[in-house]
Amino acid sequence: MTTFLSGGTGTPKLLAGAESVFDPADTTVVANTGDDVELGGLLVCPDVDTVLFEQGGVLDRERWWGIADDTTETHDELRALADAAGLDSGPRYLSDEAQNTGRDIANWRRFSGVAEFMEIGDRDRAVHLTRTSLLDEGHNLTEVTRTLAAALDVPVDVVPMSDDPVASIVHTVDGSSSDSDFAAEMHFQEFWVAHRADPEVADVEFRGAESADASPAALGAIEEGPVVIGPSNPVTSIGPMVAIEKLREALHQTTVVAVSPFVEDEVFSGPAAKLMDAVGYEPSTRGVADAYPFADAFVLDEADGTHLDRPAVRTDTRMDDAADARRVAEAAAEALSRAGAEVA
Ligand code: GDP
Repeated sequence: MTTFLSGGTGTPKLLAGAESVFDPADTTVVANTGDDVELGGLLVCPDVDTVLFEQGGVLDRERWWGIADDTTETHDELRALADAAGLDSGPRYLSDEAQNTGRDIANWRRFSGVAEFMEIGDRDRAVHLTRTSLLDEGHNLTEVTRTLAAALDVPVDVVPMSDDPVASIVHTVDGSSSDSDFAAEMHFQEFWVAHRADPEVADVEFRGAESADASPAALGAIEEGPVVIGPSNPVTSIGPMVAIEKLREALHQTTVVAVSPFVEDEVFSGPAAKLMDAVGYEPSTRGVADAYPFADAFVLDEADGTHLDRPAVRTDTRMDDAADARRVAEAAAEALSRAGAEVA
């Protein structure tokens, strides 16, 4: 068995070519749910879905989210209606009171569907509708995720980190941008989708993590190990998992290797550097190693000269296609064996 921890880009990219190194039948993917939001009453799980869509062969590989060749008729109509009615395009949070009313899993991240600030494709929406309806029928998020995985013919076991709500909330430095008056705090999706990571960040909070239980399936998979952390944003993709006490303890007990999302201090994509800086880590491979005290070995880019206190396997870590992913997966397997783990 091998367990991968995943956000929405790095680990899905790694999995898209890892099957000859890590047998899918013996692979569990634990996906981050801190980025999830409820939008117009539907629970949207971006990281879970990128894994499901990639492994199910339907991912839009240009954008690395959503379903390939999907249409956006409902989304376009939502935008047009709001525009015609003179309604602000949002993001439109529900009231403070409504944030904690309704299904618990969506606490602290409920948005109105008016003007739909995130683009949801038509086929994509059917996934969110099915997920939310199954939750309302009484299933937990782990069960629902496995049901969707079966429907999409996903060969690996995909589970959320928790069946409880954990919301990644970005605390901004007030008045730090000329764009507008940013709220003092905003959900990660507002920060990323609506503001393109522009606001200055003071801190990132994982609301609910202290009381959230690990999903038993995620905890069991991490305890069994070994664990591969693909190149991920250590703050908003892996941070929510590490913030759940049982998962953090399990990571310290098991063999873990991590692929750096940096080449020294150069990030491949996304807001990882800015967010790491904000929470007190050097935005670099060294900072990633500091963020993962439980990691036993690393995979670093061959151009990355960072000297770490733990073993490192070097390869070209840029992943554009399946052959790249396979090369990085082989390096991860080599790092696992250097860390003393048995690789199936
Ligand atoms: P998110 O959920 O979309 O924020 O994505 P993840 O946390 O899964 O991954 C984001 C990280 O992936 C970023 O910090 C990027 O630097 C890293 N990344 C993206 N593409 C590559 C790649 O081809 N190679 C490596 N090593 N890292 C990558």
